[in-house]
This record gives sequence, structure tokens and C-alpha cells, in this order.
Amino acid sequence: MSYLYKTPKLLKWYYPDLIWDYPLEDKSIYLTFDDGPTKEHTKWILELLGKYDAQATFFCVGNNVQSCKEEFNEIIVRGHSVGNHTFNHLNGRNHSLLSYIRDVRKCDKVFKSSLFRPPHGRLSKKQSLALTKDFKIIMWDVLSGDFDQNLSGEDCYNAVINNVVNGSIVVFHDSIKAAPRLKIALPKVLDELTSRGYTFKAIK
Ligand SMILES: [Zn+2]
Repeated sequence: MSYLYKTPKLLKWYYPDLIWDYPLEDKSIYLTFDDGPTKEHTKWILELLGKYDAQATFFCVGNNVQSCKEEFNEIIVRGHSVGNHTFNHLNGRNHSLLSYIRDVRKCDKVFKSSLFRPPHGRLSKKQSLALTKDFKIIMWDVLSGDFDQNLSGEDCYNAVINNVVNGSIVVFHDSIKAAPRLKIALPKVLDELTSRGYTFKAIK
């Protein structure tokens, strides 16, 4: 496993300009869904969130927004937040500053947001510096691991439940690849955290 469910404090310290969590007194959790929208799963996620009165943040890929306009509008209509996740889901490590920023701008032409999350969590210092001028860069505190085909839905549920605290930003994926685990983990996470008195807020 080449990632950690819980973001280490050292990383948060090294990138103080990026947002990793919201230290809150009240019991709020910030659920986030990356990589959508999708024709297959966005509506399912929205229906489920609705049952719990849960607000969330969707970091959308520009290209997917263009091909799933109806699903994207549904996210907006239901009052959730959206964030830029580049147009082509670029890995910052493999792209120059210029070509990376160009792709972020291309996504910005498809929809407007003041929020940005780098695909794969990869962002150089230069890229992050350039983007913090126009965006709040939203990282995370807890990874569900739903993208990992070696995990079960139950593993993803446990990763979230064992690591969240007040103000945690949690990553799930609105993607075909993550769906088998998401569909098991998300209902259980919503159920359990609701019963523990948490509410779910969108990042603004
Ligand atoms: Zn992504």
C-alpha cells in the first residue's frame, strides 16, 4: 500500500497553504467525491446523500462534466459544492507548470469554482503556488481507499470510521472503478456517523 488513510501531520506542516481539514468544535464531516460526474453513479450518490440530509463537495473532471451535464446540474441543484479537478485528470508530477495550469483553466471554462483538488494528490510546490492565487486547494484528512481494488467495501468503511474526527475532509470517488467499494462503504459511513451525531457539510 503506497498511501495512508490518515494524512500525517508532517505533510500538513510542509504544505501549510493547502487545506487538509477544518478544525471545528462542532461535529461536522466534509465528504468529498472525486473524478465524476458519471452517468452510472452520480445520481445514486446524490439520492443517498439526500436521505441523510448530507451536503458534500464534488471535485469534477471538466471532460466528464461536458459528457454528463445532467448529472452535474443535479449536483448543483441539490446544493452541493463543486471543485475543479483539472480537465483531463492530470497528474501534476508528469506535467510542466504551463501545461498543468492550462488544463486547470480549461476545466474552469466548463464550470466555475474557487475550489481545486489535484488529481492523485500530486502537486509540485510551483504548481500549488500558482494555483493558490485563484483557488483554495482542498486536500484531505482521511482517504477511504475506495479506488483500491485490493480492498473490500468493509475495509473502506473501517478506514473512514477509524480515522475521522470533527472537521475531517474525507475522500471518496464517483467513478466506475471505485463503485463496488463505494456502494458498500458509503451507506454504512453515513449511517454510523449520523448515529454518532455528525452532520455532513459542503466545503464553500
Ligand atoms: Zn481524481
